[in-house]
Amino acid sequence: MRHAGRLLAEVLEVLAQLVQPGATTSELDRAANREIRRRGCFPGFLGYDGFPKHLCVSVNDQVVHGIPDGLRIKEGDLVSLDCGLVYRDWWADAGITLGCGQIEPESARLIEVTREALRLGIAAAQPGNRIGDISHAVQSHVEKNGFSIVRGYTGHGIGRDMHEDPEVPNHGTSGKGVEIRPGLCIAIEPIVNEGEPGTVVRPDGWTVVTADGRRSCYFEHSIAITESGPEVLTTLAPRVASLA
Ligand code: MG
Ligand code: MG
Repeated sequence: MRHAGRLLAEVLEVLAQLVQPGATTSELDRAANREIRRRGCFPGFLGYDGFPKHLCVSVNDQVVHGIPDGLRIKEGDLVSLDCGLVYRDWWADAGITLGCGQIEPESARLIEVTREALRLGIAAAQPGNRIGDISHAVQSHVEKNGFSIVRGYTGHGIGRDMHEDPEVPNHGTSGKGVEIRPGLCIAIEPIVNEGEPGTVVRPDGWTVVTADGRRSCYFEHSIAITESGPEVLTTLAPRVASLA
């Protein structure tokens, strides 16, 4: 899983460079398929519960699960990339939100708060803690900064399948839930709205959008719990992390 995570980080690093004004979401999808397969992996999203593409791309008010459909990205857009791959039967799942070119200050703050919520969630994933400690760390940071946590979409255990137990909600109570033990691998993925938390699924059956039309942001890492604490399996190169 360490290897799967490193390969996925490489794929996301390539994709992040392609988020430029004028690029289309379909180009990003084709690049994801190419970059995953050239590393000897399978694009796990393809056909997962019937998903038709290799990558989720969610732009502006799209929250998660956006289907790449040829939409042209423009200066000032917020672009969330969610990607998963399978390496020798082991999964990795990760994602980032990038600003395309110059973005509004409030969008930049949304990215910063969401990324920090993920960092705090990971820091809470210590052996002996409980899943609720992660949830609480994520929720409290987001709400303290005036943004909202999207309900109904959660992080998850990960391993031989993308979605395994336990669920890792982005809201909850410290000290509650399953105990975090060495050997557990989970994906933590805060999904944060600029405005109200409500969402709607578009008629395509996949694309989740904010009910109020305002923007949304998402970050995700796959991590392993070791005796000495959480280990991020999908760490991005600093030059890419700084783009987000
Ligand atoms: Mg996930
Ligand atoms: Mg994901």
